[in-house]
Amino acid sequence: KLDGRGTFRFFEPAMDARMQARRRLELDMRQALARREFQLHYQPQLNLADERLVGCEALIRWRHPERGLVSPLDFIPLAEEIGLIVPIGEWVIRQACRDAASWPRPLSVAVNVSPAQFKSDRLVETIVSALSHAGLPASRLEIEITEGVLLQDNEKTLHTLHRLRALGVRVSMDDFGTGYSSLSYLRAFPFDKIKIDRSFVSDMEDKADGEAIIRAIAGLGRSLGMTTVAEGVETAEQLRRIRAEGCTDVQGYLISKPLPPDDLLRLLAAGSPFPRTPPVSDPS
Ligand code: C2E
Ligand code: MG
Ligand code: MG
Ligand code: MG
Repeated sequence: KLDGRGTFRFFEPAMDARMQARRRLELDMRQALARREFQLHYQPQLNLADERLVGCEALIRWRHPERGLVSPLDFIPLAEEIGLIVPIGEWVIRQACRDAASWPRPLSVAVNVSPAQFKSDRLVETIVSALSHAGLPASRLEIEITEGVLLQDNEKTLHTLHRLRALGVRVSMDDFGTGYSSLSYLRAFPFDKIKIDRSFVSDMEDKADGEAIIRAIAGLGRSLGMTTVAEGVETAEQLRRIRAEGCTDVQGYLISKPLPPDDLLRLLAAGSPFPRTPPVSDPS
């Protein structure tokens, strides 16, 4: 009606359906914490020098009573938009610290922290309290941020990052290379770890450029004293090349899919059944 008489809007029913679906998801998500529908799965990260696990990334899962398992890609953006990421993210941090404290080995645990969590002012206090309740040393907690975090309110974000660093928490740059100015962020803050985006790893086998980019990022990490993790490693061939290009760590389905906490405990108890690769100098 705002558009005046005689104007038709054929797409309105479809838009309405989408709005309703979104509204439904929002309502469900508001209940999900209280109903304990969220879970954390853990994906191991392997150090290539000694072929030992160094840590795990916590990845949220939503077990929806009707929809089944909902991917974080389908609800984290909405949670962020409506501010619900703050309580959800707080739960993630507390749960990840509790779980990590129960592991039989002192692996680090990495938690993804989104832009809205940084804006909330509560992040540092939440982390301090989660570490102390769980009895987890700060040095075992890592936070992963993407370029989106640094795009907003830069001064304040950097201040928060430095406060976390002062506590002993490590900071990783996630999805490196996918944004517009990844390089300038490396200059803005001394990250501990660069996580090379999965897209570069999957490009490697069919595009020569993919491998060159991985080599360059690994070199950058070495020069800056940062760990470089290749994400999304799925094949032995990818692993072989990543090792040859000098990345320090890998994460991906080849090593392990993200695991429910009990499966991770079993894996940690069983030792290290990981794919061995021939040394780089091996002529085969
Ligand atoms: P991310 O932080 O880059 O996490 C890596 C994603 O790659 C995970 O997807 C993981 O399951 C997937 N992955 C790992 N290895 C492989 C592989 O070899 N092949 C393929 N195809 N995929 C692989 P997931 O769990 O669906 O999470 C997607 C994104 O959702 C995450 O990307 C992160 O940005 C966000 N996310 C997940 N959990 C949380 C959370 O607790 N808080 C926040 N704020 N965001 C989260
Ligand atoms: Mg991540
Ligand atoms: Mg990533
Ligand atoms: Mg991502």
